[in-house]
Amino acid sequence: MAFDTARDLLLLIDIQNDFCPGGALAVADGDSVVPVANRLAGQFEHVAATQDWHPADHFSFATHHAGRAPFESIDAPYGPQTLWPDHCVQGTGGAAFHPDLDIGRAEVIVRKGYRPDLDSYSAFFENDQRTPTGLGGYCRERGFERIVMAGLATDFCVAWSALDARRLGFEVTVVLEGCRAIDLDGSLDKALHDMRAAGVEFDRAA
Ligand SMILES: [Zn+2]
Repeated sequence: MAFDTARDLLLLIDIQNDFCPGGALAVADGDSVVPVANRLAGQFEHVAATQDWHPADHFSFATHHAGRAPFESIDAPYGPQTLWPDHCVQGTGGAAFHPDLDIGRAEVIVRKGYRPDLDSYSAFFENDQRTPTGLGGYCRERGFERIVMAGLATDFCVAWSALDARRLGFEVTVVLEGCRAIDLDGSLDKALHDMRAAGVEFDRAA
């Protein structure tokens, strides 16, 4: 097994209503990660979670850009940025965790994407890849060496988190059974390739 449930940190990524069927930016079959996440959360001594958490006029929303549609790409000051349907607006039901997600034992919940002009896929750095969320420092201070991830979506927030965690020097295991992808223009294949190349391990849920 590629993880140690007593020593490693389980990081559950963006398992929120808007990313599940019926939500504003639903990932196909997204809610099927919930039982896997719950099973893992019951096994790990240390659990953390991320929550996508945007102001209502966030610049990653297509509605913020006249004449643009969701899933188009724009040039942000820090590089290409995909435009999304309005989603995970702070304080709304869509931004809440899936009601069946057993998040009670989470030791820390990191909110991301709250800066109006900067998106944040990764749990560790915002999309300029320079602005830290603070989770890297938290993990270092807590002494975690390996971070085990599951959640939504495989090819965006999970992959970006996994790659950043590797960049910060952590061992990373992604439990693919507990992830679902958006798969925009081959983004899933690219994400899996990039994660493999960066030394991310993959495992099935125990
Ligand atoms: Zn978002």
